Amino acid sequence: MTAPVPVAGPAGGRTPHDVLRDVFGYADFRPGQQEVIDAVLAGRDCIALMPTGAGKSITYQIPARLLGGTVLVISPLISLMKDQVDAVAGLGYRVTAINSTLEPDERRARLDAFRAGAYELVYLAPEALDGYLGDFVQGCPVALLVVDEAHCISQWGHDFRPSYRRLQGLKEQLAVPVLALTATATREVARDILRQLGMRKPAGFKGSFFRPNLRIGVRKKGQGGNTRREILALVRAHAGESGIIYCQSRKGVEQTTAYLAGEGVKALPYHAGLPPEERARNQEAFQRDDCDVVVATVAFGMGIDKPNVRFVIHRDMPKDIESWYQEIGRAGRDGLPSDCALFYSWADVMTYDRFADRSEEDGVRERARAGSRALFNLVERGGCRHQALVRHFDEAIDGCGASCDAC
Ligand code: ADP
Ligand code: ZN
Repeated sequence: MTAPVPVAGPAGGRTPHDVLRDVFGYADFRPGQQEVIDAVLAGRDCIALMPTGAGKSITYQIPARLLGGTVLVISPLISLMKDQVDAVAGLGYRVTAINSTLEPDERRARLDAFRAGAYELVYLAPEALDGYLGDFVQGCPVALLVVDEAHCISQWGHDFRPSYRRLQGLKEQLAVPVLALTATATREVARDILRQLGMRKPAGFKGSFFRPNLRIGVRKKGQGGNTRREILALVRAHAGESGIIYCQSRKGVEQTTAYLAGEGVKALPYHAGLPPEERARNQEAFQRDDCDVVVATVAFGMGIDKPNVRFVIHRDMPKDIESWYQEIGRAGRDGLPSDCALFYSWADVMTYDRFADRSEEDGVRERARAGSRALFNLVERGGCRHQALVRHFDEAIDGCGASCDAC
């Protein structure tokens, strides 16, 4: 047997695997990580569609060690940004975040250091790219542009953010490769991301979106059952554990919270109509296990990074298949069995129609109508829920066998 020939890595002979082991302390790459890192190090544009928790961050944090130059990460939530910066700083990275919460002096100092090449990683909120900063970054030694939560750029995604539109043309201006990361898996959204970011001949990696630890059950409303009581029974079956109950409307949130509180459940409401302080307080309480249940509209979503959510209940049908997947995906991030219950009805579809009718924008109404009907039909059809869900993302699996009410 011949000895393996040492391959010269990009930085002083270190390979991505060396960094994985020495900096992160992990023995092996998870599926897809190596492929994405290799594409990035080869200077290719790349899109990675991997579910939450799959380990997307490492796919740019390792290149940040190896590329020379700064990896610029666009990230939507300032609250999450801070956690990420702290985490990688703890691993010895030269890293900072630039956002609207900084004092002018501090911001100035960080920008100067950015331009001088002092950082391996810079996290930036998309809002920050307004005017001055948009031009400023062109003078900075950026080696790679990373767009985290890249589906936020697409109106067809489940979490469109207008500020992401500022990223159009940024790749062109910086003349660097771009890595787009998202836990969204629809072909349509992926195509939109590629187009809007101006990605060229991108490498792509798509992970599996099958989450066998989620036990999915669906129940049609208005068929003699009592949804409130069934929800209460589910919550009680998880006494002392964390869960989320999603409702279509603010009113639904208020009523359900009041009902559960009246039954002695530690439940707090969350919707966009509440004062920001109350919302933040309720989210905090949930995060810290000070309350068991958050009853919420879809306003409660990204930014919840809680591993031990044991159940997600939909009191009403989500607006489409993609949203359903994302919302139940907040359960069981720690990989342990978790319950996902969906209560749905045709009346829910009608309510979405009424929301959609308010939109003046071309095509939005039609898409919304098609989206809610697709989910309604999917659950009506029966068959393995997991199989039907991942099929929506072009993934074929056998029936789950044990993780849904149909199997
Ligand atoms: P995502 O951004 O895809 O939701 P993260 O990047 O936050 O996921 O990673 C999720 C968790 O998995 C983190 O705690 C991370 O440290 C861990 N992780 C990532 N890659 C590996 C690996 N190769 N081996 C073990 N743990 C890993
Ligand atoms: Zn099944």
